[in-house]
Amino acid sequence: MDKNCVFCRVISGEFPSEKVYEDDIILAIKDISPVAPHHILILPKKHSDDFMHTSTAEIADIFAKVPLIAEKLGIKDKGFRLVINTGDDGGQTVDHMHVHLLGGRAMNWPPG
Ligand code: AMP
Ligand code: ZN
Repeated sequence: MDKNCVFCRVISGEFPSEKVYEDDIILAIKDISPVAPHHILILPKKHSDDFMHTSTAEIADIFAKVPLIAEKLGIKDKGFRLVINTGDDGGQTVDHMHVHLLGGRAMNWPPG
């Protein structure tokens, strides 16, 4: 728990969120500023600053939850995109490791 971290405060319940899925390892919430019909943030409950500071085992644990969340959203068979922005050049704005799950099309990149 990092008191200065927005996502740690969401996970602790101090800040509100729209929860999609939760277990002992992750919390999945709706992004506050969605860029696709389904835009979910998968937050590991244990704080790490970004992808580069997260262990391979932790990354595997996070990704293992993706099918459950996609099923819950009803997009398991339609498809979706996973994105991890990392560092300044990667466009990361919140320094708590997270995976974006984007679904429902309406995405501009990559073309088509
Ligand atoms: P990134 O640019 O990869 O760091 O993504 C951070 C994402 O977190 C952005 O898409 C924001 O819209 C989203 N975001 C920031 N604060 C909150 C919040 N309190 N609840 C839900 N989503 C948030
Ligand atoms: Zn955090």
